[in-house]
Amino acid sequence: MRLFGTSGIRGIVNSEITPQLALKVGMALGSYVDGDVAVAHDSRTSSVMLKDIIVSGITACGKDVYDIGLAPTPTTGIAIKSFGCKAGVTITASHNPPQYNGIKIWDEEGMALSEEEKIIEDLVFRENFNLKEWDKIGKVYERHEEALMLHKKRILNNIKIKKKYKIVIDCGNGAASLFSPYVFKEMGNNVISLNASPDGRFSRGLEPEKKNLRVLSDTVKASEADLGIAHDGDADRVGIVDENGEYVDYDVILALVASYVLKEGDIFITTVDASIKIDEYLKKYGISVKRTKVGDVAVVREMKSMHSSFGGEPSGTWIFRDFQMTPDGIYSGAKVLEMKEERGDISELKKEVPEYKIIREKIPCENNKKDKVMSRIKDKLSGYEEIDGLRVDLKDSWFLIRPSGTEPYIRITCEARTGEKAERLMRKCKELFSE
Ligand code: MG
Repeated sequence: MRLFGTSGIRGIVNSEITPQLALKVGMALGSYVDGDVAVAHDSRTSSVMLKDIIVSGITACGKDVYDIGLAPTPTTGIAIKSFGCKAGVTITASHNPPQYNGIKIWDEEGMALSEEEKIIEDLVFRENFNLKEWDKIGKVYERHEEALMLHKKRILNNIKIKKKYKIVIDCGNGAASLFSPYVFKEMGNNVISLNASPDGRFSRGLEPEKKNLRVLSDTVKASEADLGIAHDGDADRVGIVDENGEYVDYDVILALVASYVLKEGDIFITTVDASIKIDEYLKKYGISVKRTKVGDVAVVREMKSMHSSFGGEPSGTWIFRDFQMTPDGIYSGAKVLEMKEERGDISELKKEVPEYKIIREKIPCENNKKDKVMSRIKDKLSGYEEIDGLRVDLKDSWFLIRPSGTEPYIRITCEARTGEKAERLMRKCKELFSE
């Protein structure tokens, strides 16, 4: 059994993610880590409960904790470095529905754990914890405000914007509700905020994608704003609405930002499910593209090994290496604003990205049946590549069939020159599941 998926440990609260499990993970981390730990949580109803238990586990094993409280995931990355911690924990289930929660662990560079996960898993399963005597118990330092101020300062110091803009920010009632609008205001902008009540009862779908952002689009239009910015539940992601109130596709905005931050000869790291329009667009700038498994863990590892300064997933999850190794939806939004000031309106820029039609769908599949289903599909296919799931490249089109690492679905991505061709491809893919 594996505890960690593509994005840490995630599941339904009090059935999969129980207080008992959280305590064990806290004690395992406290036993393993060689220093202090920064701990933050998102706005879910279960997040404070889980955070307190994790903190108890860590301190029981003699390690001090910097408690950041309610904060976006990227604030954890900033806090780890600022407070000299050796690890960080974020209690979040990102964009999953409100009944979910999760535990994501970061290393001292603010990178999501990979190999170390196995060590922690092993400690959890063997219940091998290094509990300390009464006079060696760890301390807890409350650092909520300080961590947020450090994060804000770092964003303001790294973004160059001369003019003032009208910006609409939709935080989806997530962890950035009280932070992201404030940061953009401090930059000098006029900010309208939507869904900024971090009460764990989400009023929209949490992925910052088109179908969840109609209110944001309408508000940008109605208020004649310059830009719309949306976040997922823990604000490591960003979704963008242009000055006409039109949602900008994940792949398009990713291609634009990659061309803006990278130079000729650089390598852009993205995932196996990203559009080929990114490759085509970046070719003009002399930037090459390398694909990894899905998940920011894989992207950030590849960025490190390829010395790439920018990587991202077509889910609004972007990593700016010189800023921090943790994906940061607030900094990402600010970078889009900076790009707009330097290069012009997003509605104009996006016309330069080649037109392909990408369709992403998901088919329900219980976690324990995924392997069996995938091996059946594999038998029916040929000419596939297995970076993550099964990807088949055809002439001017491609498709990917891949089990989700965080939810009970198998995801299908199809892309072609026209919507009609992409839909035909999607139908064929779905036929593979007909049994
Ligand atoms: Mg997230």
